[in-house]
Amino acid sequence: MTVRTRFAPSPTGMLHIGGVRTALFCWLYARRHGGTFILRIEDTDRERSTDEAIQVIIDGMDWLGLKPDEGPVFQTKRYDRYREVIGQLLASGHAYHCWCTKEELDQMRAEQQARKEKPRYDGRCRHGRALREGITPVVRFRNPTEGSVVVRDVVHGPIEFQNAELDDLIILRSDGNPTYNFCVAVDDWDMRITHVIRGDDHINNTPRQLNMLQAMGAEPPVYAHLPMILGPDGTKLSKRHGAVSVLEYRNAGFLPEALLNYLGRLGWSHGDQEIFSLEEMTRLFDLDDVNKSASALNPDKLAWTNQQHMMKRPGAALAPLLAERLQALGVDTAGVDLAAIADAQKERAKTLLEMAENSRFFFADPQAYDPKAAAKNLTAETAPVLERVRAVLDSLEAWGAAGIHAALEALAAELGVGLGKVAQPVRVALAGGPVSPPIDATVAILGRETVLRRLDRALGVARSG
Ligand code: GLU
Repeated sequence: MTVRTRFAPSPTGMLHIGGVRTALFCWLYARRHGGTFILRIEDTDRERSTDEAIQVIIDGMDWLGLKPDEGPVFQTKRYDRYREVIGQLLASGHAYHCWCTKEELDQMRAEQQARKEKPRYDGRCRHGRALREGITPVVRFRNPTEGSVVVRDVVHGPIEFQNAELDDLIILRSDGNPTYNFCVAVDDWDMRITHVIRGDDHINNTPRQLNMLQAMGAEPPVYAHLPMILGPDGTKLSKRHGAVSVLEYRNAGFLPEALLNYLGRLGWSHGDQEIFSLEEMTRLFDLDDVNKSASALNPDKLAWTNQQHMMKRPGAALAPLLAERLQALGVDTAGVDLAAIADAQKERAKTLLEMAENSRFFFADPQAYDPKAAAKNLTAETAPVLERVRAVLDSLEAWGAAGIHAALEALAAELGVGLGKVAQPVRVALAGGPVSPPIDATVAILGRETVLRRLDRALGVARSG
């Protein structure tokens, strides 16, 4: 058996990290078993589906590297097929026309409620009913009335549903549109899906889908219903918690491999290991290791995971992403060694956006100095130190971090002070504040001309301070 999984988002809202985790698990399972991963866009709710949401799904999965082997398949392109299957179910007696009017159904519900019964379709059109003038009938699935359906769920174990609890679902509306659960069942059948991996908010749909699959003569897939992702406060994930478009994580400077690592660990584990490459997760992932209970989003852990992955990437592999973030901040990055900046900065930023923000000073002279840092470091006492640094750097032959480090160390020794006493005024002069990467790397990256210009300006402040 070749494993075939599908990720089947509805483009009625932006793809958020809950959806991404489902996509990841479907993708991992297919990859792990040499199978096929399919993207299916469930866009039958035409009123609430948007092109923008479809684009976010496609761009988001592309960004994350969760490439589908087949698809995207759009449900709205498959209406002829759905109608064909409805014809077959009608012919085999597994479906029937229902001529009930809205008034009749409303009355049925009211009577059931008055009798304290659960509102459900009572099956009055099951055994045929005369055509009614002016009414276009719906088509209902003839659900078995007896026995039970057992969902064999890899995560939750077997879950049994009584057929008596399931009424006859409308599968074709009077406007000619097929309905959600039916389309899912037809697609899973046609696409020969072997493993349905999805959020456990779909558990209650599964017995209905299983009954329809059986009526169609389809082999049922294996189900794995994933526990929900909750907000950090343990409540349902919402926009406030980060249930925002996955692309916002890209814009906030997260690495795709870090987001996937974090989401992989949210709901799945392999011993105590926290940091995984995608290749490693692919090798180790199994549905048996998926947690049964919901897990809460932890923004600090996500940030930490991101930093771990930033540190794994060489600066050159961070540079193009840093460039995007800097450009988004309006910084012109032309002619600057971004790989060197990324290497110098990756240990002190949690995201690429933070790195970009911390790196602005590489691209523009400080407009003002941090007052506290200037009061301490740009003073009459430090002016002579800055003058000596200027002279040393002006005459330094080979411009590079190692040479700069040696020269500043020699100067500190000569002045009889620690390196920090020399480095900190230089840092404030160059970066405008008390924080920068190591001084030798900072000086090397900025280049001689810029360094001398900034030292001159800071000296002006120091002498008058
Ligand atoms: N379209 C459904 C959703 O976005 C998923 C359906 C499924 O995976 O079966 O929640």
